[in-house]
Amino acid sequence: MTSANPIVSPAGADIELTGVSKTYAGVPAVENLTVRFAPGELCCLLGPSGCGKSTTLRLIAGLEQPDAGTVRIRGRDMRGLTPQRRNLGFVFQNYALFPHMGVRDNVAYGLRSRGGMREAAIREAVRDALSMVRLEGYGDRRVHELSGGEQQRVALARALVTGPDALLLDEPFSNLDARLREAMRFELAELRARLGITTVFVTHDKEEAFALADRIVLLRDARLEQAGAPEDLYRNPASPFAAGFLGSANCFVGEQGARLEELFGPMPGTGRGGLLVLRPERIRPFPDEDGPFTVAESLFMGPYVRYLLRLEPAPSFPLVEAHCPAFEQRLALGARVRAQLLPESV
Ligand code: ADP
Repeated sequence: MTSANPIVSPAGADIELTGVSKTYAGVPAVENLTVRFAPGELCCLLGPSGCGKSTTLRLIAGLEQPDAGTVRIRGRDMRGLTPQRRNLGFVFQNYALFPHMGVRDNVAYGLRSRGGMREAAIREAVRDALSMVRLEGYGDRRVHELSGGEQQRVALARALVTGPDALLLDEPFSNLDARLREAMRFELAELRARLGITTVFVTHDKEEAFALADRIVLLRDARLEQAGAPEDLYRNPASPFAAGFLGSANCFVGEQGARLEELFGPMPGTGRGGLLVLRPERIRPFPDEDGPFTVAESLFMGPYVRYLLRLEPAPSFPLVEAHCPAFEQRLALGARVRAQLLPESV
């Protein structure tokens, strides 16, 4: 359902960063970053703490200026434009609602500060924005009367009310408990699908990125590591870092790969001395007295059991991690096992 009110009509803008760099006190926070966010796309900036995600978002927002490179929105160079003139909506981790104002005034704030709008039109736009985030009838509430999830929805409404070209979200759900966080992910996905608004979402949580993103931009040490659809990144990580960050992964190099081939048969990539990544959930250990592995560790993780398998007798060989459905028969610690690779394990 789209709003009849022209003020609340967010749409998908194209955002393009070309060779963008930003350094703080000689230390690069973002280095030579070239990335494009397509109209209507929900893209997650993912990576460990300190890799430059927030800085990238702040550069798009105009809260920081790049030392080099350009930020373009709808093809227009943003150099010198203040955040207010970029027509973007922001939501941050700590909501940043005004505690002394009610919900309605919080949402109306951005419209009022722009000026030039009649009060009746403001009320209508606020009503539309609150209904977008399913908070109809909450206009008169005080901020402290709202739950964390409701406060974050008010923050979303406030970001949407001006009809922004894109939505920039910086770890918006990280203050919420796990259940609420999941519920908010669904809400955001649904809202974005309804509005078709370009959304850039910062998170360090790979599961959040997998659940939400059309595309993930993985950053590492201020640089772009890899970008692509969640499934592509998960299945085809381009580096040991990507493999490790996007899922627990077994990474083997050179001789190690050759040794695994002796056990499991030919695998792509090992012949070239390349990186071999085995997905733990695609490895199935089963009891076999003559098997080449012993179970070195066995941890119940809820939906699955995490095993670490030791190749015998090869103490220097890395442990092989395997994840098995929890309802399957549990393997004993120290048990001798063989392992089978399921399709798409490599
Ligand atoms: P992330 O969002 O991935 O955690 P940030 O973009 O916040 O990373 O930070 C990237 C790097 O830049 C970090 O090393 C951080 O300490 C540094 N940094 C970020 N903002 C500032 C600032 N205003 N002043 C100095 N250093 C900063």
